[in-house]
Amino acid sequence: MGGCASAPAEKYETTKEVADLKAQAGAGVICTLFFPDAKLPCRNARQPGGCRRQHCDYAHDATNLTRFLDYLASAKSTLDICVFTITNDDIADVVLDCHRRGVKVRIITDNDQATTTGSDINKFRQAGIPVRQDNTPAHMHHKFAIIDGRLLMNGSFNWTRQAVTSNNENVTVLADVTLIKSFQAQFDKLWAQFK
Ligand SMILES: [Zn+2]
Repeated sequence: MGGCASAPAEKYETTKEVADLKAQAGAGVICTLFFPDAKLPCRNARQPGGCRRQHCDYAHDATNLTRFLDYLASAKSTLDICVFTITNDDIADVVLDCHRRGVKVRIITDNDQATTTGSDINKFRQAGIPVRQDNTPAHMHHKFAIIDGRLLMNGSFNWTRQAVTSNNENVTVLADVTLIKSFQAQFDKLWAQFK
């Protein structure tokens, strides 16, 4: 015995580390978002006057993506984003809007993805948002964002169009102080490392 793989599952339940994590779980979970969504959100529906198209194939009611966007858009002072790739224009527009409103946005992403077709990274750079990349053959594969230092969004969800309507993905929105501190420390570490 001795290897992790051969240890009974119950053993992990009793370790202090897991017990501490379990004690925290639930304390600060705001919501969980699961993808795929059936449809992408209608952009017109979110404008004043709403959507006037007779046959619109996009979603007019709230979807998991619109909830995700609402959390992002709630940023008032800071928005730290650490994601593998961003190609979803709905998400990119909210990030750009935060920047225009004076929110201090910082983005860490993967170098291999930043130059692919549809990547929004150049748009962010042109707008003046500071972006840092890992510049290694390995992937910067995180998908999390910290909003105003008080909300954490984390999960498998890639910030792509495909992830919204095709992939099975999850995002958990948390207000857990301990978790946010831990993710903020990791963000700051990578930010310094990738300069
Ligand atoms: Zn519509």
